[in-house]
Parts: sequence; structure tokens; C-alpha cells
Amino acid sequence: MSKAEVSLDHLFRVFTKPEHSDSTLAKIERHLSDNISDFLSQHVVTKKTSLEEIEKDFFSAAVPDSPEFVSEHAESLLDKLVAHSVNTYAPTFIGHMTSALPYFHLTLAKLLVGLNQNLVKIETSKAFTPLERQTLGMMHNLIYQQSDNFYEEYLHSADHALGAFCSGGTVANITALWIARNHLLSPDGKFPGVAKAGLAAAYKHYGYENIGVMSSNRGHYSLSKTVDVLGIGRDNMLTVHSPTQKLDPEQALKLGKAYQESGNKLLAIVGVAGTTETGHVDPLDELADVAKELGCWFHVDAAWGGATLFSERYRSKLAGIEKADSVTIDAHKQMYVPMGAGMALFKDPKHSNAVRHHAQYILREGSKDLGATTLEGSRNGMAMMVYSSLHIFGRRGYELLINKCIELALEFASMIEAHPDFELMTQPTLSLLTYRLRPRNLVNLAKMPESEFKGINQELDSLTVAVQKQQREAGKSFVSRTRIEIERYNDEVITVFRVVLANPLTTKEHLASILEEQLEIAKLNPIWIELSRNSISQTA
Ligand SMILES: *Cc1c(COP(=O)(O)O)cnc(C)c1O
Repeated sequence: MSKAEVSLDHLFRVFTKPEHSDSTLAKIERHLSDNISDFLSQHVVTKKTSLEEIEKDFFSAAVPDSPEFVSEHAESLLDKLVAHSVNTYAPTFIGHMTSALPYFHLTLAKLLVGLNQNLVKIETSKAFTPLERQTLGMMHNLIYQQSDNFYEEYLHSADHALGAFCSGGTVANITALWIARNHLLSPDGKFPGVAKAGLAAAYKHYGYENIGVMSSNRGHYSLSKTVDVLGIGRDNMLTVHSPTQKLDPEQALKLGKAYQESGNKLLAIVGVAGTTETGHVDPLDELADVAKELGCWFHVDAAWGGATLFSERYRSKLAGIEKADSVTIDAHKQMYVPMGAGMALFKDPKHSNAVRHHAQYILREGSKDLGATTLEGSRNGMAMMVYSSLHIFGRRGYELLINKCIELALEFASMIEAHPDFELMTQPTLSLLTYRLRPRNLVNLAKMPESEFKGINQELDSLTVAVQKQQREAGKSFVSRTRIEIERYNDEVITVFRVVLANPLTTKEHLASILEEQLEIAKLNPIWIELSRNSISQTA
């Protein structure tokens, strides 16, 4: 392979804009765009190449000594990277919350990289800072629907923040509960607050044994990372057993009271609006009242479900979200924005001051620098992608997309229920559902005594795992799997296929073909063959 010249002159050229539109770089760019378009329009999820095989291309830990021509490097990326990427745009890729993006992002992304603004401070971002604040304001408005005066007062106020933009739902959850923690353990008389004095001093001052966070056991694992990072400890993550997939308010109140009566303080209840596994929404309105009664913060993790608020038809599924002290929304999920766009929104714009940080050379007091209240430091102008999407789709455009996905999930659920060899495990609330293969002769399985269905469920678990793996490896389609409690099997934890319908190009025909493929794979599996002979249903 020819090597590029090692000289400063050559490197200067790398930093300079090419002069002609038919320059080498422009050609490379066209070549890359064509290749990506080809890749994304092929309807395969992955090539059959194994991960071990791909790792061979990324084996050496030696830093390349000499420069490489961009054109050659681009070819190697196409070959090693693009060719073996997962096609998240495929309409049969319905296993995760990552899906196809509208194509305009490819073009707009150039502005982001091209301008390379840093949102940590005004001096490196200027127009991007007000844009980000406006974007947060629009999302705040979607949740809290405050008056025009409210937004006029706070949107660009140096002493307030309507939210924090960050890289995703995990950081948004950490940010929200960080604010909640500092708010709870705030300065009091001579006590300078937890931010300054630390947790040990704070517990001593307030007389708390521990502080804890409560959610259903379907809460996202970022919550246990959060209690860990905040120093609260994972033992104080109170995960409530929830076989209905939803946090029961009565249960929450009872457990919260018991926790507080033994010398602890409940920091926050987290209601989930769209659980990662099944898309269920906790009873937010009632949980807000429970939080009030317990005197704790109410956070809603709407990383997935938040975008449902765009839909007039379905926003009532999130009723009560407006009572939350803070809300997490991921734009890189149902808002179809590229990866790296999360937001925490705060009901009270003063609350972010609980984590405000000043530094002399940067983040001066009274400045509008966003870095003063964000966990992350240097950040790119990703908010532009959210801003642009909000304009390009508009609320009504988003509404159409959201409605379409929820309604497709309902149709898929009916298809599964109508099919004798499948069992719907959880009904869709949003655009997620779970199901499994179950031979038709076992249609009455759930009515059997536990002693009988238990063993069969274990066999079906192995079948689900095997079919899911084989389907993934075949590469035409992708459905994920998880394990959840199922009420009608006496809360037994069962392995299920998990489907997330987010790609607007996925059709009923795609879904039918996925079921067909799964059944074909199953029919060759010894477990299926054995269970299909089982005549348990006749004894029912
Ligand atoms: C995806 C998700 C998260 C985590 O968000 P990331 O963007 O992956 O960090 C948290 N909570 C819920 C409910 C989610 O769906």
C-alpha cells in the first residue's frame, strides 16, 4: 500500500478546504455516500460473518507509524467496517430501540462536524447555545405546557435551566437524580450542602441512615448506575417486584413508608413511561401523589415513551407526567435523531442551580454557559438535530409516526393472537410487545396446574433462546429476547421474544414473514417436535 507523505505541508493540506468540487475528497465523499445508501437499502440485517472473524480485522494494538491517504483509508473503512455493520435501517430489524433515521440527518450532520461548536460555553458556541435552550424549551413545553410568559422569562435566563441536553437517557437520569439529591441534601444553616460537604456529612446533618430511589423492577439499569455514581449505593435502589410490568402505587406507598420509618429517606420515585422490555407505562398520576405523600422527588423516565406526547391520540397514556419534578427523554429513540441525543427536563427552572458549578477561566458567574449545570463538559451541537427534526416533522408529523407505530404494534399483537402456534406474552401499550412460540396443542397451557406448566415453560424458554439466536445468525431479520414475569403463569419468569416497532417502513407483510421464519426454525428443533406431540391440552 502506498503511504502518504510525512510532512507538515501535507498535513496543512488536510486542514484546508479542497478547491474543486471534483477534488479527490469530493469524489471520496460521493463514493462513501453511495456506499452507505447501498448498504442501508439492502434488506439484510447482518452478514453471516462471525464476530471472531471480524475481530481479526481489528487485531493490532500498534499505532500506525505513517499517515495514510484518505482515499485508501476510506476504502478500508468500507471493507472492514461498513460491510459488517448492523443494518438498523432494515424494516425487519425490530428487536431494539435503535432504528432507521430519516435521510436528511446525513446531510445535516455535516454542519455539526463542519462547525465543531462546543456547547460547554458561549465562547465556543454562540448561536448554538440559544438554539439548545430553545430546543429544551420546546420539549419542556411538550411536557409541562406552561404559559408564554413562563417561557419568555426562563428560556434564555442565565440563572435558570429548563433542562439539560446530554448524550442519552443514562446521563439524563443521572443528571435528574443528581439534582434531586443535591436538592434534598441542600445547604441548611451551617451545613453547606452535599455538593460541598459530601454524603457522610449530609447523612449526619439530616439524620438519615440512607437515602434511596424506588422504581419497578422493570426500571432501566441506568438507575442502578445512577445510585452507584451518586454514592447512594445499589442496596438503596428499591426495585419493586411488578408482575403487571407496572409499579403499583399502593405497594410504592407501603414500601416507601416502611423505608422511611426505619430511619431512611426516600430520595425519589421513578415512574417509567415506556419500559425498555415491554413498553409499559407506570401509573404516573397516582405515583406523583405517592411521591407527594412521601415527600420525595418524582422523576419520570420517558426515554422511550416521551415522544408519545406528540400524539393527541395517545398522549393520555402518559397522563400525570406533567406532575414530575424531572423527566428524561431520548431524542435518539422515538424522535429519530442520530445517537447521542438525550434530555433531562426540569419542572422548576431553578432546580438546576442545585448542581451549578463555576470555574474562573470558564463558566463565569452570571454567564449563560450551559456547562455550568450539565454533567458533561465539552459537548457537540447535537441539539441542532433535535431542533431540525422538530421543524422538519413538526408536531403533527411526529404524531403520524407515533400513531403508526403504536397501531402497527396492535396489529402485530392481533396477528400473534390469531396464530395457533404463538402466544402473546404482553399486550402493547406503546409500540413494544413480547410473545413466544408455543405449539397449538398447548393452547391451554396457562390453565394447567403450575406443576405441569412449569416444566413445559422451561422447555419453551430454551426453544425461544434457540430460535432467536438462529434467526439473528441467519441475518434476514432481528427480534430480541428478554426474561419477564408473566402474571398468568403465577408470575413465573419466562423467556420471550421482544419486538420494538419504530421503523415506519416496517409493514404487516414483514411481520408475517418474521413469524413464518420463526416457525420454520422451530419446526426443526427437537424441543418443538417433542412438545408438539404433547397432549396436555386434551386433559384440560
Ligand atoms: C434507553 C433507555 C434508557 C437509557 O438511555 P441511553 O440513551 O441508552 O443512555 C433509560 N431508560 C429507558 C426507559 C430507556 O428506554
